[in-house]
Amino acid sequence: MSNIHELSYLKEKIEELKKDGVYRTLPVMETASEAEVILNGKKVINLSSNNYLGFANNDRIKKAAIAAIEKYGAGSGAVRTIIGNMDIHEDLEKLLAKFKKDEAAFLYQSAFNCNAGTIQAITEPGDIIISDELNHASIIDGCRLSKASKTVFKHSDMDSLEEVLKESRKNYKNILIITDGVFSMDGDIAKLPEIVELAEKYEAMTYVDDSHGSGVLGESGRGTIDHFGLHGRVDFSMGCLSKGIGVMGGYVSGSQTMYDWLSHRARPVLFSTSLPPAVVGAVTEAVTMLMESTEYTDKLWENARYWKEKIGSLGFNTGHSETPITPVIIGDEAKTMEFSRKLLENGVFVSGIVFPTVPKGTGRVRCMVTAAHTKEQLDRAVEVFEKVGKEMNILK
Ligand SMILES: *Cc1c(COP(=O)(O)O)cnc(C)c1O
Repeated sequence: MSNIHELSYLKEKIEELKKDGVYRTLPVMETASEAEVILNGKKVINLSSNNYLGFANNDRIKKAAIAAIEKYGAGSGAVRTIIGNMDIHEDLEKLLAKFKKDEAAFLYQSAFNCNAGTIQAITEPGDIIISDELNHASIIDGCRLSKASKTVFKHSDMDSLEEVLKESRKNYKNILIITDGVFSMDGDIAKLPEIVELAEKYEAMTYVDDSHGSGVLGESGRGTIDHFGLHGRVDFSMGCLSKGIGVMGGYVSGSQTMYDWLSHRARPVLFSTSLPPAVVGAVTEAVTMLMESTEYTDKLWENARYWKEKIGSLGFNTGHSETPITPVIIGDEAKTMEFSRKLLENGVFVSGIVFPTVPKGTGRVRCMVTAAHTKEQLDRAVEVFEKVGKEMNILK
């Protein structure tokens, strides 16, 4: 008889992972998140972090974090609805609202729990959520926590969306369309102008998760809505503070009504401690820097264009990305993982992404170029891609 506390049912599942060749250990980084890092004891060029603007280890932002710690301490002491709501939390929300050109912005501890908390709070039985089939896991979890009905439309397929909308309009009270602003695996941008038009035609609300658009698209990284000039036409504009902004946190911006309701019903804010002062101080500085200058986003796009041009002209298949996310599509799953492993052996870290994260046969390494990369680092990485690509007969 096995002892229940040995967790043998989990051990069996772990054995299955090993048998399927998908068991893994996590790479360990011994430096700050920079363009070059020490990973598992070895210096490598980092082409996999979401630190788009290089803000994660920016001096000005670090100083702001330290200053916030000195004045407000290491922790906030409580959830916001009890006594964890500091003036710096409210100031940051006002700054974010201004940045996004919305009435109000409501702050969460992460983008993940922003989705988990907001979607369930703004929907109820009798409503329906219509979600792009490639939406992020945190949106899927948020939808699962909602008591509304749920359905999906084919990825960025407006005929599919309209079909679902037409059918839903007859049977449900409120309709909420949810989409990623930028899709993280392919780097394509949501067809937001068409989505907003369809939403208006069928009297639906819209919710955009702009995690990969935040700090990347639009003027100074204001996001996908700004990129398309759709201010005031998206009801829930969700932003991420952990990718482009380089630190931690999430928020949803929109109307004051949205803010007032979430401050009473957003469960991650009601039942989990508010962001610590260091994070609030750092994020506030990062957003201030973006509002002062476009130099950070300009540099990101300059590097991204350079990388796409170089990698594309070598003959790699870089898909249909419209953003700095640059997939190099290899296809076969095992070959993709081998490509990633060989790049690492040659000093370039790019994570391999395969089924079930992306469809079978579309395995890729996903290159994330940042504003912090130098041309010299990018050129060195290009050389490694060429060398390994030729060795593996991916390039002719
Ligand atoms: C990364 C990501 C999140 C989660 O962001 P965190 O701030 O790290 O919790 C949510 N949605 C999308 C689309 C993402 O890419």
